[in-house]
Amino acid sequence: MVNPVVDKNKCIGCGTCVAIAPSTFEIGADGKAQVKTQVGDDPATINNAVSSCPVQAISLGEDQPAASADPSTGEATDQVNS
Ligand code: SF4
Repeated sequence: MVNPVVDKNKCIGCGTCVAIAPSTFEIGADGKAQVKTQVGDDPATINNAVSSCPVQAISLGEDQPAASADPSTGEATDQVNS
């Protein structure tokens, strides 16, 4: 399950994510994007919006460790040299 989060400190309010996934993102009163509905669009559309953000302001939620290599999970630490 995707769980998009907008970092308003990075967002420049370009509207790209809203154009791609209008059921998930909206522009707030502050002129920055915000999540309207977590799963408003299908995951592929949300992923497309995430990857289309020019400043990488959108991340996919913390409850999805499989989405990326998260060092805090300590999962992919195969540095064993024997
Ligand atoms: S695409 Fe990125 S910079 Fe543009 S409005 Fe959405 S979050 Fe903000």
